[in-house]
Amino acid sequence: MSTAAIVPAAGSGVRLGADRPKALVSLAGEPLVVHALRALRDSAVVDRVVIAAPPDRLDELTATLPAAWSGWATVIAGGAVRQASVAAGLESMSGDHELVLVHDAARALVPPAVVIRVVDALRAGAPAVIPVVPVSDTVKRVRDGRVLETVDRASLYAVQTPQGFRRDVLAEAHANAMETAATDDAGLVERIGGEVCVVDGDAEAFKITAPLDLALAEAVLRSRRV
Ligand code: C5P
Repeated sequence: MSTAAIVPAAGSGVRLGADRPKALVSLAGEPLVVHALRALRDSAVVDRVVIAAPPDRLDELTATLPAAWSGWATVIAGGAVRQASVAAGLESMSGDHELVLVHDAARALVPPAVVIRVVDALRAGAPAVIPVVPVSDTVKRVRDGRVLETVDRASLYAVQTPQGFRRDVLAEAHANAMETAATDDAGLVERIGGEVCVVDGDAEAFKITAPLDLALAEAVLRSRRV
């Protein structure tokens, strides 16, 4: 089954304290988005990719991509929020691809094996698939500086990307999203009553948000090189 990927990469990078959009922040000499795209490419299960970039950085982002990826990767203008960036990516694609992945540029070091697990589950018939990792911290619900309750950790999972969808399922979920916001695309599928399946994620698919995450990412890359 033909598989396309949308990479939302239009975030500002404010929490990273960077002087440029997060996707263009350098990690071991290359922008985060290039690392994220390489993981998709190395998986060998993604036939084409659309990158939603900050509208004022289209040329800059395009210039960072290796020439060998032209034809495989296309840069488009992202939206004001992540959901709008994904919707723009979906609209820009032809209907040739039955399966669509959505992968945050900020999860730059996702191991290709995670990408393959997601696509394998879609090929096996799941309409929507997300990679997850168990939550290791104790989690409490807090209001006004007081603990309300301790949430049972056994059933809690942290969600990563790439999230994978049958194209028609993702399109319907976004069409129904209207003005309401979700922090991930599977959340929109849940809202239309769609089934979302899980596969194992990986600690190395963590989202690069704060300066500490960038230091961790450098260490992960070093460990991969030895
Ligand atoms: O801000 P956050 O880390 O949650 O962003 C997750 C992903 O969504 C990042 O890869 C970011 O570049 C992307 N994003 C986007 N368009 C926006 C905001 C965020 O593509 N307007």
